[in-house]
Amino acid sequence: MTGRIVEWGIFAAVVAAGVAVAIFGSGYYAQTLFTATMLILLAVGWNVISGFTGYVSFGQVSFFGLGAYVAALVMIHMAAPWYVAAPVAALAGIIVALPLGLIMLRLNGIFFALGMFGLARIMEIIASSLGITGGPMGTTVPVAQSVNECALVMVLAAAAALIASYRLMRSRLGLRLMAIRDDAVAAEASGVNTWTIKVVAFCISAGIAAIGGSLYVWNVGYLDPSSAFTGTIELQTILIVLTGGIGTVWGPLIGGIVIAALSTALWARFPMEEQIVLGALIMFIAVAMPGGLMSAVSRLGWLKRAPIWGPPVDPTTLPPVATDEATSGAPAAREPVLSCRGLGIRFGGVVAVKDVDVTAYPAEMLAIIGPNGAGKSTLFNLISSFALPSVGEVSFAGHKVSGLPAHALARRGIARTFQTSRLFPLLTVWETVLLAASSLYATRADAVAATTRILAEVRLLDHWAEYPDTLPPGRQRLLEIARALALKPRVLLLDEAMAGMSAQEIERVHAALRHAMARGTAVIAIEHVLPAIAPLARRVQVLDFGQTIAEGIPRQVLSNPTVIEAYMGADYEEPAHGGA
Ligand code: ADP
Ligand code: MG
Repeated sequence: MTGRIVEWGIFAAVVAAGVAVAIFGSGYYAQTLFTATMLILLAVGWNVISGFTGYVSFGQVSFFGLGAYVAALVMIHMAAPWYVAAPVAALAGIIVALPLGLIMLRLNGIFFALGMFGLARIMEIIASSLGITGGPMGTTVPVAQSVNECALVMVLAAAAALIASYRLMRSRLGLRLMAIRDDAVAAEASGVNTWTIKVVAFCISAGIAAIGGSLYVWNVGYLDPSSAFTGTIELQTILIVLTGGIGTVWGPLIGGIVIAALSTALWARFPMEEQIVLGALIMFIAVAMPGGLMSAVSRLGWLKRAPIWGPPVDPTTLPPVATDEATSGAPAAREPVLSCRGLGIRFGGVVAVKDVDVTAYPAEMLAIIGPNGAGKSTLFNLISSFALPSVGEVSFAGHKVSGLPAHALARRGIARTFQTSRLFPLLTVWETVLLAASSLYATRADAVAATTRILAEVRLLDHWAEYPDTLPPGRQRLLEIARALALKPRVLLLDEAMAGMSAQEIERVHAALRHAMARGTAVIAIEHVLPAIAPLARRVQVLDFGQTIAEGIPRQVLSNPTVIEAYMGADYEEPAHGGA
């Protein structure tokens, strides 16, 4: 706590120093400050989409230029002051970013980066060819009365952006952005609408860049396409974030100060060599310190990101869980909660799943077993909408759900784990479960209570502030199960969840599953070998070569000769194959 106060004290001192220079500094210092804080503002914006969300953009300057043009038009044609032009520019940035984001964020990593690069070039060409604001020759724009005024506004804008980014990283939205960055598939499985959330981040970052552009034209009083969409600003923005620490709240500030100080010092002494030295330095930082200066700072224990909505509450103070709708229905009714008919999918020539029916009833477990490559994991992908079936349909709670996005199914109550563990490397144990809980609960208090309860149940509460890679493999799987349970699933799909667990950990999972089933959850558990779940399973379904070859109560199925042959045969012939 005192650490936080010191950190905010330092931040306040830095801002106060900026304000003092802006007010009392000479023109040269005020202009230098303006440029540095403008780059910090742009760095904060770039960091939202490229750092927090993980979508590296090479065209953020598109929105800087757009903001500059919109502000210029507003100032010229409506004779509006900067404080009207800037919000209009931000709005324009957001409005343009919305459709662009909807398209571009369908692209993966490098294609998004390149697409954004192309966008900046296209915007520059549009600005040149349209007659408005002087075409390629540019135009003058009403300029600020003094550079000191510009610097002051920019210092405050950058400070506000930093505070906003700090708040973002302590919010539900920030949690979702980081989850997407770490593992978008796992985020979907946790009920996060990854596409929409990415578009929101993109719009926020575009709005911030547009504000930077609007204040830039107000400062220089002149605008032409090549300076509005210059690659130099793009590069400087990226360099600042990389130097400071990508994906961290304070990286843009630290990087901005260091780069500004260095380039000013270099410029004064070696004006010709400045760019070369700076470039070499960046290469050094990229190689020697991939996490930027923030990695060194956080190694000292400073400026650490506090777990979102933590710490947990004391579980003994929580009220008992109210029985929910799922449990109140009489289990004797035997209405299936999930029923899949004729599911099938082929990958090229491989028919991975063929004509499979799956029926799951509330409050009981169905075990799915079969040799490696039998199509078990693929079947789960079809049920949970991570893959689209070529044929067949899935009905859940009486409704056809085939074709719904995976996150929507997760929210409705089909939760899953993955055969190869998919945890978020940079989210704590607490945040991992909170992410899923916050997909379900509207209020912070409810999400925190649910997260606390589930972590206490699987006995991971003591590890709440740890990162997944510090947990032993069995605990990692337990955490993934806890994340799925946080969705309060009516159907829980476990893909070889107990593989590699100690007997004690398996007992914990069994306890958690019994508990969930007592609340009415239907569990479908894939295991490679039956003993891990036989004590809990009511029915067993055996897959081989994508088809159901047997089903029934465990003892019956295990003595079925077809099963013994398929199972043992495949197991012994190709022990190391498949298992994706
Ligand atoms: P299991 O989980 O039972 O071990 P899987 O469902 O992982 O089996 O795989 C079933 C078959 O489908 C395997 O032959 C596998 O190679 C194939 N398969 C699974 N996913 C894909 C994919 N995305 N593309 C191509 N083939 C796939
Ligand atoms: Mg599998």
